[in-house]
Amino acid sequence: MSSFDYDLFVIGGGSGGVRGARVAASLGKKVAIAEEYRYGGTCVIRGCVPKKLFVYASQYHEHFEDAAGFGWTVGASSFDWKKLVAAKDAEIERLEGLYKKGLSNANAEILETRAELVDAHTIRLVKTGQTVTAKTILIATGGRPNPHAALPGHELCISSNEAFHLEELPKSIVIAGGGYIAVEFANIFHGLGVETTLIYRGAEILSRFDQDLRRGLHEAMVAKGIRILCHDVLEKVSEAEGGLAVETLKNGTLHVGAVLLALGRDPNTAGLGLEAAGVKMNERGAIVVDEYSRTSVANIYALGDVTDRVQLTPVAIHEAMCFIETEYKNNPSKPDHDLIATAVFSQPEIGTVGLSEEEAARRYKELEVYRAQFRPLKATLSGRAERMLMKLIVDAESRKVVGAHILGHDAGEMAQILGITLKAGCTKDDFDRTMALHPTAAEELVTMYAPSYRIRNGERV
Ligand code: NDP
Repeated sequence: MSSFDYDLFVIGGGSGGVRGARVAASLGKKVAIAEEYRYGGTCVIRGCVPKKLFVYASQYHEHFEDAAGFGWTVGASSFDWKKLVAAKDAEIERLEGLYKKGLSNANAEILETRAELVDAHTIRLVKTGQTVTAKTILIATGGRPNPHAALPGHELCISSNEAFHLEELPKSIVIAGGGYIAVEFANIFHGLGVETTLIYRGAEILSRFDQDLRRGLHEAMVAKGIRILCHDVLEKVSEAEGGLAVETLKNGTLHVGAVLLALGRDPNTAGLGLEAAGVKMNERGAIVVDEYSRTSVANIYALGDVTDRVQLTPVAIHEAMCFIETEYKNNPSKPDHDLIATAVFSQPEIGTVGLSEEEAARRYKELEVYRAQFRPLKATLSGRAERMLMKLIVDAESRKVVGAHILGHDAGEMAQILGITLKAGCTKDDFDRTMALHPTAAEELVTMYAPSYRIRNGERV
């Protein structure tokens, strides 16, 4: 009989924590999980899921416009923000319920409280002040929006957290940042009729993506009417008549209804008692873990965004499954962070897996680049000036496809499938041997027979 209250205590009820708790409990372990806000975590409550619902909502006005080309006459349309938020909230509540049901069905004890470490085996439940002990502790507390405390007036701005619960849609918005959240919300707000300006410090949005996608998306967003100001930063935000005044370094002062800061996310480690337990953090406050997600304290693991490895939900879930294998199945398993397919739910969408052309050019001596840009079939009748971009990056020596990049409708769906082919180490010849599926956009991926250009020793030839 263990001398601890629990075999496993999980702090954080997001994607990674819930998966770890649920599966450990289903293996017969005595498990408790504590969450201070809502079960489901960032992804379900104020991230991926509600964001995608908002993306759908923001696309309807284009659907209505496109319908005319197919013979439809759509009557007067209007949009009700409060109705969307209420519908989204109902769905999120349903999902939160499912998360909790999964945990209770597996016999995990669900605690609705903040939990902090007292030492390597003791946890304090903040709501009651009670302390409990556990043999193993799993920290999965996620991250929070970078508040950009150095910006005068940052407290007047919102983050993605608040964007999901605005009382009213602003008439205009400035979004700071050029990453996933900035770009996705710029398209959402614009699609819902908000005059949108995105301000990014670098030369081009989405710094970690293939240059072609970055440029292509930038142009498409501008063509829709989104203002993008690169090489600029916010210097001050203050209250002004009817909204906020945003002083920028290069573009003067903008008057808008709201400012959204989307400048990355920080690990949620403040006040967790990590020092008391001896758990090491890095300079960003992220928990340092080894390849098995074990912290500097042998019985404490950490996974997901709090470890600042790859901030994506499926990665946290995968890390949780590896933790289960390692800790409870005598099968030490390292999470595999290689070739993670990812999507930006911008409009048009980005779907990508593997290396960008720029990164591949640094790693490989010779590359073949296959590139196709075309008007999707639907756009012929809708009349929408929309181009789809597809790109395969191939290592000339091994013939392996090392990067696949798509800009356009359903790019995320395609990237998921392409992820399998790259993971399996498919070569360009495998792609060539694959029969096209007609008429689809994806058939372009298997019909690009001749390279558009080559890159040798980093130079385009
Ligand atoms: P990102 O890391 O994607 O982007 C942060 C942006 O903020 C970058 O453009 C960065 O510029 C800029 N930035 C950072 N600090 C400053 C500063 N002090 N001043 C000006 N600009 C600054 O973070 P997000 O907040 O957009 O998203 C957080 C994470 O959440 C993502 O990394 C992603 O993993 C995840 N996510 C995934 C989504 C998906 O899968 N579709 C959707 C939303 C989020 P620079 O590029 O120059 O460094």
